[in-house]
Amino acid sequence: MGHYKKRCKYENFFPPKIVDRLKLKINVTPNFTTMVTGHGNIKSYLFTYKIKGSPTCSCKRGEQTIDHIIFGCELVEQERDRLKDAALRSENWPVSKDTLINKYSKEFKKFTDSLSFDKL
Ligand SMILES: [Zn+2]
Repeated sequence: MGHYKKRCKYENFFPPKIVDRLKLKINVTPNFTTMVTGHGNIKSYLFTYKIKGSPTCSCKRGEQTIDHIIFGCELVEQERDRLKDAALRSENWPVSKDTLINKYSKEFKKFTDSLSFDKL
Protein backbone atom coordinates (compact mmCIF):
# COMPACT_ATOMS: atom_id res chain seq x y z
CA MET A 1 0.00 0.00 0.00
CA GLY A 2 3.04 2.25 -0.18
CA HIS A 3 1.87 3.86 -3.38
CA TYR A 4 -1.52 4.71 -2.05
CA LYS A 5 -0.95 8.45 -1.53
CA LYS A 6 0.45 8.91 -4.99
CA ARG A 7 -2.49 7.06 -6.49
CA CYS A 8 -5.05 9.22 -4.75
CA LYS A 9 -4.01 12.35 -6.56
CA TYR A 10 -6.18 11.95 -9.58
CA GLU A 11 -9.19 9.94 -8.58
CA ASN A 12 -11.40 9.59 -5.57
CA PHE A 13 -10.83 6.29 -3.94
CA PHE A 14 -12.08 4.56 -0.95
CA PRO A 15 -9.32 3.91 1.52
CA PRO A 16 -8.39 0.21 1.73
CA LYS A 17 -9.64 0.17 5.30
CA ILE A 18 -13.22 0.45 4.10
CA VAL A 19 -12.73 -3.01 2.61
CA ASP A 20 -11.89 -4.34 6.06
CA ARG A 21 -15.14 -2.94 7.35
CA LEU A 22 -17.12 -4.43 4.48
CA LYS A 23 -15.60 -7.82 5.16
CA LEU A 24 -17.84 -7.98 8.18
CA LYS A 25 -20.91 -7.65 5.98
CA ILE A 26 -20.06 -9.55 2.84
CA ASN A 27 -17.67 -12.09 1.45
CA VAL A 28 -15.16 -9.75 -0.18
CA THR A 29 -13.63 -10.96 -3.46
CA PRO A 30 -10.58 -9.69 -5.41
CA ASN A 31 -12.85 -8.06 -8.02
CA PHE A 32 -14.78 -6.28 -5.32
CA THR A 33 -11.63 -5.00 -3.65
CA THR A 34 -10.34 -3.77 -7.00
CA MET A 35 -13.54 -1.87 -7.72
CA VAL A 36 -13.67 -0.32 -4.27
CA THR A 37 -10.05 0.71 -3.95
CA GLY A 38 -9.12 1.21 -7.60
CA HIS A 39 -6.04 -0.94 -7.03
CA GLY A 40 -5.85 -3.88 -9.36
CA ASN A 41 -6.54 -4.96 -12.88
CA ILE A 42 -7.84 -1.62 -14.12
CA LYS A 43 -6.08 0.05 -17.01
CA SER A 44 -5.74 3.51 -15.49
CA TYR A 45 -4.10 1.88 -12.47
CA LEU A 46 -1.84 -0.37 -14.52
CA PHE A 47 -0.91 2.60 -16.70
CA THR A 48 0.14 4.61 -13.65
CA TYR A 49 2.65 1.91 -12.82
CA LYS A 50 3.68 1.51 -16.45
CA ILE A 51 2.36 -2.04 -16.57
CA LYS A 52 0.13 -1.06 -19.48
CA GLY A 53 0.97 1.36 -22.28
CA SER A 54 -2.42 3.04 -22.30
CA PRO A 55 -5.16 3.78 -19.77
CA THR A 56 -7.87 3.65 -22.47
CA CYS A 57 -10.68 1.17 -22.00
CA SER A 58 -11.39 -1.48 -24.64
CA CYS A 59 -14.62 0.36 -25.48
CA LYS A 60 -12.39 3.28 -26.61
CA ARG A 61 -14.67 5.78 -24.90
CA GLY A 62 -12.30 6.93 -22.28
CA GLU A 63 -9.88 6.09 -19.58
CA GLN A 64 -10.65 2.88 -17.79
CA THR A 65 -11.22 4.00 -14.24
CA ILE A 66 -13.55 2.54 -11.64
CA ASP A 67 -15.99 5.38 -12.36
CA HIS A 68 -15.91 4.56 -16.05
CA ILE A 69 -16.64 0.90 -15.37
CA ILE A 70 -19.41 1.56 -12.86
CA PHE A 71 -21.16 4.40 -14.67
CA GLY A 72 -19.96 4.70 -18.25
CA CYS A 73 -18.58 1.66 -19.96
CA GLU A 74 -20.90 0.19 -22.57
CA LEU A 75 -19.14 -3.18 -22.40
CA VAL A 76 -20.72 -3.88 -19.02
CA GLU A 77 -24.19 -2.52 -19.71
CA GLN A 78 -25.98 -5.76 -18.86
CA GLU A 79 -24.07 -6.17 -15.63
CA ARG A 80 -24.74 -2.54 -14.74
CA ASP A 81 -28.46 -2.86 -15.46
CA ARG A 82 -28.87 -5.36 -12.65
CA LEU A 83 -27.12 -3.06 -10.24
CA LYS A 84 -29.17 -0.12 -11.49
CA ASP A 85 -32.43 -2.02 -11.03
CA ALA A 86 -31.60 -2.67 -7.41
CA ALA A 87 -30.62 0.95 -6.73
CA LEU A 88 -33.54 2.43 -8.66
CA ARG A 89 -36.01 0.96 -6.20
CA SER A 90 -35.15 3.78 -3.85
CA GLU A 91 -32.62 6.07 -5.57
CA ASN A 92 -32.09 8.04 -8.72
CA TRP A 93 -29.38 6.79 -11.02
CA PRO A 94 -26.53 7.53 -10.99
CA VAL A 95 -26.06 7.13 -7.28
CA SER A 96 -22.78 7.98 -5.62
CA LYS A 97 -20.11 5.34 -5.24
CA ASP A 98 -20.45 5.89 -1.56
CA THR A 99 -24.11 4.86 -1.66
CA LEU A 100 -23.34 1.88 -3.86
CA ILE A 101 -20.64 0.58 -1.62
CA ASN A 102 -22.35 1.21 1.69
CA LYS A 103 -26.04 0.79 0.96
CA TYR A 104 -25.94 -1.67 -1.93
CA SER A 105 -22.83 -3.57 -1.04
CA LYS A 106 -24.35 -6.95 -1.90
CA GLU A 107 -25.60 -5.81 -5.30
CA PHE A 108 -22.38 -3.94 -5.94
CA LYS A 109 -20.45 -7.07 -5.13
CA LYS A 110 -22.53 -9.07 -7.63
CA PHE A 111 -21.75 -6.40 -10.21
CA THR A 112 -18.03 -6.53 -9.54
CA ASP A 113 -17.99 -10.32 -9.54
CA SER A 114 -19.64 -10.36 -12.95
CA LEU A 115 -16.87 -8.26 -14.52
CA SER A 116 -14.19 -9.93 -16.61
CA PHE A 117 -11.31 -7.51 -16.38
CA ASP A 118 -9.41 -9.50 -18.98
CA LYS A 119 -12.00 -8.55 -21.56
CA LEU A 120 -12.29 -4.89 -20.63
ZN1 LIG B 1 -15.13 1.19 -21.32
